[in-house]
Amino acid sequence: MSDIDVVVIGAGAAGLAAAKGLAAAGRSVTVFEAMNRIGGRAWTETETFGFPFDRGCAWLHAADRNPFYAEASAAGLRLFHHDMSLDHLYYGRSKAQAEAMAAMARADAALAAALARPGPSSGDVLSELLPDNLAADAAATFGGPMDFAMDPDEISAADFASAADLDPNYFTYDGFGSIVARWGADVAVELATPVREIRWGGPGVDVVTDRGVVRAGKVVVTVSTGVLAHAGLRFSPDLPEGYDEAFDDLPMGLLTKIPLVVEGERFGKQPFDDLLIERRSRHDIYFLCFPFDLDLMVGFVGGDFAWEIECAGEEAAIDFATERLARTFGADARKAVKKGAMTNWGGERWTRGAYAAARPGRAAARKTLSVPVADRIYFAGEALAGPLMQTCGGARLSGEKVARDVLGIAA
Ligand SMILES: Cc1cc2nc3c(=O)[nH]c(=O)nc-3n(C[C@H](O)[C@H](O)[C@H](O)COP(=O)(O)OP(=O)(O)OC[C@H]3O[C@@H](n4cnc5c(N)ncnc54)[C@H](O)[C@@H]3O)c2cc1C
Repeated sequence: MSDIDVVVIGAGAAGLAAAKGLAAAGRSVTVFEAMNRIGGRAWTETETFGFPFDRGCAWLHAADRNPFYAEASAAGLRLFHHDMSLDHLYYGRSKAQAEAMAAMARADAALAAALARPGPSSGDVLSELLPDNLAADAAATFGGPMDFAMDPDEISAADFASAADLDPNYFTYDGFGSIVARWGADVAVELATPVREIRWGGPGVDVVTDRGVVRAGKVVVTVSTGVLAHAGLRFSPDLPEGYDEAFDDLPMGLLTKIPLVVEGERFGKQPFDDLLIERRSRHDIYFLCFPFDLDLMVGFVGGDFAWEIECAGEEAAIDFATERLARTFGADARKAVKKGAMTNWGGERWTRGAYAAARPGRAAARKTLSVPVADRIYFAGEALAGPLMQTCGGARLSGEKVARDVLGIAA
């Protein structure tokens, strides 16, 4: 006998969407969330700067397919259309002029063409598709660590190629996290209740938390592949062959934001300009400049360097970002930086990174996880969002789809 129909694990975009879909169809649902808030990797806070700052997702990607965009737009929220195109590129201290910018655009187009060519590339490693020159480095930095949150030598070319073009993109002043929190507010969630184990040896599932065991017919698991690979959630008996490998084959990349409050100086940049300071050392940093005309430059580092900098700590990260500005625009930049912060998704045990990217040769792992186990354990989340992988809108759509799967409704 089951106490309830479905347990949903995780109250991020995917879990909230799954719970909404199941409840709307009349199923009894319990949602367990390890953190003391909903939203997961969608999290807007105002404490740090006194205005909304997204620690996780910020761009409403693929707005034409992203339900969050339609709702934000209908609600009259302040939105800004911002498709990433590199406005300013610096190689170390020197600003790339027209020819260097054109070379970078050519490198970007050459990479896209190489990815579009049918047939397996040698080794399925993104870096193998790149010539060894500065322009290709910059193109790969923008698409690799700053977007896929991994370095090109760790990215599966097939996985990278299967991600959708995310235009059109929008930014919201209120914060993407606050949109998700408002949308999910009508879902009853058991907060601060990590699920430790799923026992599925008998009929249905027993979901074990520190506050007791809940028996359900089915379970929807929306925690990140990073949490699953770290055994943040155990399965008893072990999952069938292939699932544990798939968790390992979809490791978490890391994208770290280093926002700086910059007063009295704009370095010739306009609100929402994209600025990349590229180094051959891979210690690259991208800045989103002065969004909504705020005195804020949001620095981003990604891939291995992001893991390093999060370990070094917030002070070191602010120092690094400030020094990059000072080296590029002059020592006065130091005086203009009044405050900074660093996000820490690598140290967050309930995500273990920013989002998943397949290891070279392992892009099929996403498909493995999309198959439910014993008609009882269903996976959903950004890693299973198809072409909208890694995005918050994609996570929500994945949650909506898994609800239909549980209900046995064909797509
Ligand atoms: C720095 C950064 C920048 C990003 N930028 C963008 C962007 O601009 N645009 C965009 O669309 N996307 C962006 N993303 C990605 C986006 O935030 C995620 O893809 C999306 O929010 C993931 O939703 P989810 O529901 O799949 O997972 P999550 O939001 O991680 O939800 C899963 C939930 O499960 C909970 N959980 C984990 N383990 C347990 C357990 N054992 N028991 C109970 N609960 C558990 C977690 O606490 C979490 O709340 C960004 C992410 C990061 C980190």
